[in-house]
Amino acid sequence: MNNIPRLLDSSLPEFRRTSWVSERARKVWESRISAVMSAWAMVEEQSVAHGIRRVALVAAFPETLSEKETRWRRMGLTAKVLTEARITSGYSSSLQPPVPGERSSLRVAIGQTDAVGEMAQAYAQNDVHSIGRALGYPECCCAFFKSTWCEAKLRDSTWPMAVGTLEGHWIDESTLQISGSAYCNILWRWMGVRAVPHLPCSFRCAATSAYGKSLVELGAATGYKEEMASLKEMLSWPIEWSALHGIAEIKTPILKLMTSTDATPVRYRVRLSGTGFPAEGATGLNFPFLEPGNSKRPLHNNVPPESDQQGTFFNGDSRAPARFNGFRTRELMDRAHAPLVRAVTDALGDVTGGRVLDLGCGDGTLLRKIVAKLGTIIPFGIDIRNSEIAQAQTLTPNHEKNFVVGNLKRTPELWARRYDIALLAIQRLEELSSHSDVTDLLSKMRASAQKLLLYQYGHSSAPEESFVLRAARLSLRFVQPPVETHMVTYGFLGKPGRTEID
Ligand SMILES: [Zn+2]
Repeated sequence: MNNIPRLLDSSLPEFRRTSWVSERARKVWESRISAVMSAWAMVEEQSVAHGIRRVALVAAFPETLSEKETRWRRMGLTAKVLTEARITSGYSSSLQPPVPGERSSLRVAIGQTDAVGEMAQAYAQNDVHSIGRALGYPECCCAFFKSTWCEAKLRDSTWPMAVGTLEGHWIDESTLQISGSAYCNILWRWMGVRAVPHLPCSFRCAATSAYGKSLVELGAATGYKEEMASLKEMLSWPIEWSALHGIAEIKTPILKLMTSTDATPVRYRVRLSGTGFPAEGATGLNFPFLEPGNSKRPLHNNVPPESDQQGTFFNGDSRAPARFNGFRTRELMDRAHAPLVRAVTDALGDVTGGRVLDLGCGDGTLLRKIVAKLGTIIPFGIDIRNSEIAQAQTLTPNHEKNFVVGNLKRTPELWARRYDIALLAIQRLEELSSHSDVTDLLSKMRASAQKLLLYQYGHSSAPEESFVLRAARLSLRFVQPPVETHMVTYGFLGKPGRTEID
């Protein structure tokens, strides 16, 4: 199997966007992550001072360079500026030339005088192997870097790295499930969280693992015990990377990150199994979330499976009362529901006794609003959370049998009936593990429902999160352009029988 993904001839500008699974996760982990990042910068310097490697390549702003040089001199290190680059937000896979008038950042080699001299020379000659060796990178990883980064010109080495992890389990031809060494887990790099400075050749590279271990131990011994413990913990969690059409999505138990990557026509996905899971992590049926009710997690902490909603009105906060279906207040929930109620009632027209299925119905509030408006509607709902369905059954007494606990994929009786309209948040499709699962679910929905209403709560605050782009990533098309309101965006997918998936 070729380890280079199929590429499209296009690329998106660099961007990075993070969303936390909950306010609680952000509160606990945001400050820890920034502490880990600052500690890591110190570990990089210390690794040279302590002779773990000959040279480190570090970043510095021109205005603080002399201050840093004083510190490096005190550590017995020489510094030499190798290049100047434009500042991009967060981790950047490529160096951008500086722009006059904008802030720039310097790449500086620090180490013993002779080693820094050799490094500068290798750098000028673009001698990847000598640079890598001076920086302490394993030979196997230098060769990997040369073939993926320099020769195949990839900006993201994750897929070839996963393919190079020979023990990986192929779920389908573009999905790999892997277990590896936490020190080789480089999937947090866009957040600045990493145990090695280089791009490892595999998730089980023994040389990388040993190198990472020595760096983390050095960090713990030089005043960053707590930060190194947080680092090791984060790297031991399950994490998923996937890439499609130039957008990479990195899902961790506490946050989701979207960033630019190589543009591919199919979705590539890497799932790295973990050995731990944070108390603040989200529940959900899909990787990398913990299944609700799993004993590793307190049951009272039953937050929605992942906040697909953006903005502050929906934050998946465990303190938010369940009766608002994840919204902070009833008023916000009502405002988000109103356009959906209108869309459904308009679409049903004068159908009497119309059957409406809400996939992920929570406590059934949205369905009850539709019933209240049209009177003769028969509601059906499914949700993975017992407590929500119990509530829905209590609140919708004439139709309690129509509310079931279950997973969309594993509930055949759901698809045995006919519905006039089925409603689904786009997030539910995105959570499915493969393209064929998406195709599968959609064909079931099409076979039993006349109309499919797809929606997302919130309006897109960033173009890469737009509803249309999210749908395009799933190869979905709408019969009409989606309607975007401040609180919800929605559109109808094609009629049953029409193929939306290419
Ligand atoms: Zn290696």
